[in-house]
Amino acid sequence: MSGFNESIYGRVVEEVYRGLENATLREGLKRTIDNLVPAPYRVLGNWGYLVKLAEELRRVKEDVLKNIDYYIDLTLKSVREYARGEGFYAKTREDVYKIVDMILEGHRRRMVIVKAKSMVTEELRLREYLIEKGHEVYETDLGELLIQLSQGKPMHAIAPAIHIPREEAVKLINKLGVNIPMDATHDVIVRRVREFLREKFTKADVGISGANAVAADTGSIVLVENEGNIRLSTSLPPVHIAITGIEKIMPTLDYAIKQALVQSAYAGLYPPTYLTVISGPSSTADIEYRRVYGAHGPHKFYLILYDGGRRRALESPYLWEQLLCIKCGRCQGECPVWMLTANNWGGSVYGGPMGMAWVAITEDEVKAAHLALLCLQCGRCRDVCPMKIDMPKIAYMLKKSLWHKTG
Ligand code: SF4
Repeated sequence: MSGFNESIYGRVVEEVYRGLENATLREGLKRTIDNLVPAPYRVLGNWGYLVKLAEELRRVKEDVLKNIDYYIDLTLKSVREYARGEGFYAKTREDVYKIVDMILEGHRRRMVIVKAKSMVTEELRLREYLIEKGHEVYETDLGELLIQLSQGKPMHAIAPAIHIPREEAVKLINKLGVNIPMDATHDVIVRRVREFLREKFTKADVGISGANAVAADTGSIVLVENEGNIRLSTSLPPVHIAITGIEKIMPTLDYAIKQALVQSAYAGLYPPTYLTVISGPSSTADIEYRRVYGAHGPHKFYLILYDGGRRRALESPYLWEQLLCIKCGRCQGECPVWMLTANNWGGSVYGGPMGMAWVAITEDEVKAAHLALLCLQCGRCRDVCPMKIDMPKIAYMLKKSLWHKTG
């Protein structure tokens, strides 16, 4: 790693200031933080067993990370054997593109693709890639649709568009030609988006999702949500492609379900409206108990396990710990710096406390170290993290890596 670089630091500070001076962003953040921050406290107060579950998950996840190659192989084998799907391991972004192209090959050229929100596909810039290839792609999570329309980056792990106030959201959604009045209520906006997307779900050739967890023993993926868009994206189109990071692997299906539950709890969205387990294409055995694949849901299921710097990070004495992250985003709402800047203090996808390490893992360690210079070392992120990831220590080590080189 090279040492302190004035121009990288200058760009980091510039983006932070751009965020601070953006009145729309400040207003959106102000309106959201009051709801976002207390929510997990309420959830954990009501359902105390979730805290124990999180502690148990940390132990299990550490074991998976120590044996990641074994678990990758086991997952891919299980996808084939039990989930009647095809599993792939992709080391780089280009590898993912090749696999997706191969899956889409043979279908008609311009496809309609509905996408569920996924931070990994943001890392991959998959939406942009597919659009460049001539496909029609719709984000179906409302927040992520706003990000698509604004051509911006997500500002929070769970709520990507928290910086966009209602009035701005109306302007953006109207780009789809839906003509929502500027004084429309939240309810009206949601209803109009629902009407717009309903047609896309039924027309779609392919659904793409992430996964909150993957079960190595069954090859299943687990998804948690409230909007219902993930269910539609993964059940209406004939083909379903799930893409997720290797750190989402859990040894068994019960732990995968627990991971999804803990994620929704620490995001303050517990109980989740929908918890979905997908173990391959749809099927029926209703005639003579003979199993036929391709019933009402997809007839093809593909899982892509993406590395994208994660295995390399496992070698690092401090970055490895971030791979325990379940991306609930709780650390962000608690961080005094993030509260002012949102993910303007971050990389192209991840920001805030969790973002420092994720930028180092998925983008650029030097940039991550410069982001870390703004961390106050207050420790609030570590205290509220369900996995108790020592993010202040990671920030400290990243800073130290700069001073080593500058002397
Ligand atoms: S330790 Fe750093 S990253 Fe964590 S909450 Fe404090 S300022 Fe934010």
